[in-house]
Amino acid sequence: MISLAESIETLRMVGPIYSKRLKNLKIESISDLLHHYPVRYEDNSLISKISFLQEGERVTVRGKIISCKNSYTRTGKKIQQVKIRDDTGEVDIIWYNQPFLQKILLPGLTVNVSGKVKNFANKLILDSPSYEIINEAGNGKHVHTARLTPIYPQTQGVSSKWLRSRIFVLLTKFHLTVRDYLPESILKNYNLISLDQAIRKIHFPESTEDIIRARYRMGFDEILLILVGRKVIKLNQKLELNHFPLDYRKIKDSQEKFISSLPFILTGAQNRCVREILADLDKKSPMKRILQGDVGSGKTVVAGIIIYLLSLKGYQSALMAPTEILAKQHYQTLKQIYAKFDLKIALKTSSSNIQTGDFDLIIGTHALISPDLKIKNLALVVIDEQHKFGVDQRSKLLQKGRSPHLLMMTATPIPRTVAMTLFSDLSISIVDQLPAGRKKVKTWVVAPYKREPAYKWILEQLKSTADTLWPVTNQAFIICPLIDESDSLKSIKAVKEEYRKLSTDVFPQLKLGLLHGKLASRKKDEILKKFKSKKLHILVTTPIIEVGMDIPDANIMLIESSDRFGLAQLHQMRGRIGRNNQQAFCLLFSDTQNTESLSRLKLLEKIYSGIILADYDLKLRGPGELYGTRQHGLLNLKIADLQNANLLTQANCAVKEIIADKNLKDFPPLQEQLLRYKINNQKFVY
Ligand code: ADP
Ligand code: MG
Repeated sequence: MISLAESIETLRMVGPIYSKRLKNLKIESISDLLHHYPVRYEDNSLISKISFLQEGERVTVRGKIISCKNSYTRTGKKIQQVKIRDDTGEVDIIWYNQPFLQKILLPGLTVNVSGKVKNFANKLILDSPSYEIINEAGNGKHVHTARLTPIYPQTQGVSSKWLRSRIFVLLTKFHLTVRDYLPESILKNYNLISLDQAIRKIHFPESTEDIIRARYRMGFDEILLILVGRKVIKLNQKLELNHFPLDYRKIKDSQEKFISSLPFILTGAQNRCVREILADLDKKSPMKRILQGDVGSGKTVVAGIIIYLLSLKGYQSALMAPTEILAKQHYQTLKQIYAKFDLKIALKTSSSNIQTGDFDLIIGTHALISPDLKIKNLALVVIDEQHKFGVDQRSKLLQKGRSPHLLMMTATPIPRTVAMTLFSDLSISIVDQLPAGRKKVKTWVVAPYKREPAYKWILEQLKSTADTLWPVTNQAFIICPLIDESDSLKSIKAVKEEYRKLSTDVFPQLKLGLLHGKLASRKKDEILKKFKSKKLHILVTTPIIEVGMDIPDANIMLIESSDRFGLAQLHQMRGRIGRNNQQAFCLLFSDTQNTESLSRLKLLEKIYSGIILADYDLKLRGPGELYGTRQHGLLNLKIADLQNANLLTQANCAVKEIIADKNLKDFPPLQEQLLRYKINNQKFVY
């Protein structure tokens, strides 16, 4: 009997080299391997006879290998050609660049191959399928083929296939049973399958139903363990104390003076949020608050007011933003706002080297976390665009102080069920009003055949003033999508290419700039400065401008392949324009033929609330996202689907039941599991 806690290295089938590589996937123990969940499944369960193969279908074929040879393509690539036969016919299979197959796929062996049927020079073939050698009767267990095949996150030197085979052996040859840590009564009341079943089914499901139930159970556990863990900590912990009370009533005058110095009048919503925050700052425990508000609702200045008031008491604040561009922008705006007041403000990015300081406010990127930065009297941590940060990053910054207040700003709304269940001890302030006079950004979905007229229209808009003198008065963004988040190089190539095309073919008479994440920070600054000072008509960019950027005079935005973005994200992007009270326009380009995608995009023509759009995102998300864990930013969740309101409320009920019942709470396996969950390291849950 093996223990799940044992190091993965003890398994003969893994060994030292692989166990080192597995660390990249955070797999160190046997249990970690079992909890390395598939990201998706390939449906290879359709078994076909060779003569019935049809172009385009994904099938599994079983046959005897007749021949296997290496050859070269015209371009010099190595290919492997294998012919197999069953009782109805023969079919060719091709792999690329895997010469070792010749030593494995020996003539006479029986194989299963699973993959797509393609038409190649008028002949049906199987192109790069998965394969596995089986016994002639074909009655053995199939791991890779003829089933719902799990696909795993892989890493350098550890393939999905390797992981699949090891997990399979672990589950079938070792007679292991995963002991459940939830009491029988909870399983029954919440209709959960056992942990052992869940683990088996999540890796090797026999049906989609299996996948759903297994994922439900694992997600349930994830939420439950966090919540029980947190409650147990709370029961045993002394209340965190607020060491930085503000006594804001005593500084009412300063507050009013500061607010009236601002270049605009605060909206009612901004005023209310300031009040809510101030009230929090004088409570017994430190504030933990989210400041949520649509793009352009003016969250920065709300934080700015609080920071100023804290500085009057000698308290320091830190403001962390996800990009250097944004950090610098905050630095500029706040410097202006504070110009007439005695407040010292510093900027820390990876390229600037501040270590300690005599400042009231330090603004920066995640470089603020760096251990050599000391902040003496840190009273408030402000996180801008909080969803872009991980739990660790937030808690590291908090640990620089002695229980500082925390204010997290975001334009991404937190669904109500999530707020009520997972974040019940987090308060939320909502800036639900835009500054007066803002016009809605007119938005159109543009069909491919209207591309030329659209370009012409943009040219007219921008040129009407470009004929005259600099500076230009009308400006536009053209946004190219991230092609693939994991492959930023490809995306940069695409945006560079688009930039070249636009500046030479489409708008030769205008001045264009190019901005993307891989540019050196000096270069980024330079281009932005040019754009801000109106020396450019058009900024061609990747979605790095999505977060926070404030360029008041840009009034046109064109978004390429807009169907690849979520609605809330598109809404955030168009929030970049239309800030100077002039009419602004957003053109959503898309080549998609999919009517559902198009009508989804069309919602942006009518709906201007980030919260409602985010809701549609949840309802209409594509099947491709089904198993992707959407990082919410507030928690590191591996599998629980926060979109599943039922899962959240059920798990929450179970937690209440467990905490209320001493027998359940002290159920030894659960206690053990909580310890293993390292609840002590999760002290800073936010
Ligand atoms: P977000 O909430 O998206 O972070 P910002 O804080 O960047 O928004 O504010 C957007 C713009 O609106 C900034 O240029 C800011 O100066 C301006 N702004 C903020 N509050 C007001 C207000 N009450 N009236 C007019 N303009 C405002
Ligand atoms: Mg902002």
